[in-house]
Amino acid sequence: MKAHYQTRGLLIVLSGPSGVGKGTVCAALRKRMPELAYSVSATTRAPREGEREGVNYFFKTVEEFKQMIEREELIEWAQYVGNYYGTPRRFVEETLAQGKDVLLEIDVQGAHQVKQRFPEGIFIFLLPPTMEELKNRIVHRGTESEVTLAHRLNAAADEFKQIHQYDYVVINDEVEKACERVEAIIKAEHCRVDRL
Ligand code: 5GP
Repeated sequence: MKAHYQTRGLLIVLSGPSGVGKGTVCAALRKRMPELAYSVSATTRAPREGEREGVNYFFKTVEEFKQMIEREELIEWAQYVGNYYGTPRRFVEETLAQGKDVLLEIDVQGAHQVKQRFPEGIFIFLLPPTMEELKNRIVHRGTESEVTLAHRLNAAADEFKQIHQYDYVVINDEVEKACERVEAIIKAEHCRVDRL
């Protein structure tokens, strides 16, 4: 898909409120586009059932995470519902330099920071079909306490306000359809004259 004359890969940032289905869309997209390099984030939150070190996240203690911040090993980081999340710098920079596209699945605060550092990135905001649907998805995930649920919904309401900082919006009504739209965006971005 990538033209020979494009030497750097594209940085694709998939963001949006928690519960919108970023993780699910991202997983489906990785199957659909195996050529995309996925950036595994670091986090201080505890692993959920079935999550694996180095596959879903690099699980860190707060101290380890703070060291990563101090050593400038993260492109961006954010605190979300009491935990830290961040994108390791080295993988992203090396992979882009190798000419491969990199996919980040991160929250809205993180996407804002990436935009400052990588303004040439492609920023995609994933939307739930409705707010009610977002709430249902968070509740049915079943890992949230009442307090965390309320936090996540409040955070989502604030995050919607940032939508205009993005290049594209994709509604996650059905995972496969959302993936198709993201794939179309990436393909179109590779055809842009100003990337030659
Ligand atoms: P979860 O705990 O549900 O896996 O993730 C909580 C939120 O953190 C989600 O919105 C997820 O996209 C976001 N997130 C995951 N990795 C990163 C990261 O590296 N940086 C930032 N800023 N957010 C992240």
